[in-house]
Amino acid sequence: MSIDLKGDKLVQTDEKHLWHAMHKHAPGKSSMIATEGHGAWFKDTEGKEYLDGVSGLWCLNLGHGRKEIAEAAYNQMMALSYFPLTNSHVPAITLSEKISSFLPQDYVTFFSNSGSEANETAFKIARQYHAQNGQPGKYKFISRYRAYHGSTMGALSATAQANRRMKYDPAAPGFLHVPPPYSYRSMFGPGEEGDLAAANFVDEAINWEGEETVAGVILEPIISGGGVIIPSPNYLKRIYEICQKHNVLMIVDEVVSGFGRTGKMFGFMHSEGVEPDIITMAKGLTSGYLPLGATAVKASIHESFKEGGKDHHLRHVSTYGGHPASCQVALKNIEIIEKENVVARVEEYGNTILSELYELSQSDQVGEVRGKGFLYGIEMVKDKSTKEPASDDLLNKIIGECKNRGLIIGRNGDTVPGYNNVLILAPPLTSTVEDLEFLVSTVKDVIFELTK
Ligand code: PMP
Repeated sequence: MSIDLKGDKLVQTDEKHLWHAMHKHAPGKSSMIATEGHGAWFKDTEGKEYLDGVSGLWCLNLGHGRKEIAEAAYNQMMALSYFPLTNSHVPAITLSEKISSFLPQDYVTFFSNSGSEANETAFKIARQYHAQNGQPGKYKFISRYRAYHGSTMGALSATAQANRRMKYDPAAPGFLHVPPPYSYRSMFGPGEEGDLAAANFVDEAINWEGEETVAGVILEPIISGGGVIIPSPNYLKRIYEICQKHNVLMIVDEVVSGFGRTGKMFGFMHSEGVEPDIITMAKGLTSGYLPLGATAVKASIHESFKEGGKDHHLRHVSTYGGHPASCQVALKNIEIIEKENVVARVEEYGNTILSELYELSQSDQVGEVRGKGFLYGIEMVKDKSTKEPASDDLLNKIIGECKNRGLIIGRNGDTVPGYNNVLILAPPLTSTVEDLEFLVSTVKDVIFELTK
């Protein structure tokens, strides 16, 4: 079959047969159709090149075209194309050990295909864990407003972004939401004090619900899709203490922040002494080369799934979860991250980029610039004193003009109507210095020009 990459035919076929994620097919507004990529750049059917300033969906951490990763998948597919994890295979065993080696104690990993599934798995493990430890009433999960944890019903129920849920509610029962540590707009006030008050709210919520009904707290170290909301390090530590106090499992969603994105291997590692009970991963685990999700569970929690006979096994299976090729891709991805000191590079360059981006605060319509590692949020407002969110139109213009100049940037998801006013940057972690300079200068030029 030959495909006419230049003609209208492809666009028409796309409009006729392909159902896109999130976007509607607006008449006369065709989507960008990518054909090839190299490093942090991709090319569309028009031959125009773009720097991908959001790493696809924050996953293309090592950029396009890593031959070693493609070869790892090819070799594995030729050696053993598929094998279910109801038994075992070498790539999954090796990867589970590798994941554990980064973590503060021994962890046991269940593999799936995506971040949503990794979180679904965490919820089932948490409920069953409490049930087989004599507390079947512990079933509720607490997450924060503005957080995104996935698109499947359980993960969507933990997601607390109104617009994403409205058409699909009622959500699964047993999911509660609390305010995030959102210093810029916090009901608890700014800075660490406000963040700790937000953490203490979780303590109160557990008390009010009755700790005997709460199974877990799920949280990202940095709320990413909800607007790059970065707490002070002691916030996560306080949440950990609260979870321990109430025998509530702390589930840290590292789907975005895992594997170097924030300048540490995992985002929770910015907070000393935190040892999450469950850690979920996807995206950066394979840099997007193949799908893979992972739910890493403290070995001490996994113990209770080994005892007690058949009743204590996890009744959960995923046909493709932990596919041998995906696991090999993850292993190669991690090998490159280590060999090329990617995490240290992110920490080093991340601070430089952030200080460059801070200059944007001079604009009357930039309310706050936030960032850690290679993850940045630029919160746009109409007026700095009222903090009223900037118009949709302004954000669309900025994103559109960056695109005209060859740069793709993102914005926060449908949190609260009118509040998706945060521009987001999350370039591949291996972007060259020139790439990063282009990213920063384009964003600054466009924002300054359009907010004059
Ligand atoms: N958790 C977080 C924090 C995410 O950002 C995402 C995806 N954007 C998910 C979970 C869900 O991952 P997936 O799309 O792979 O299901």
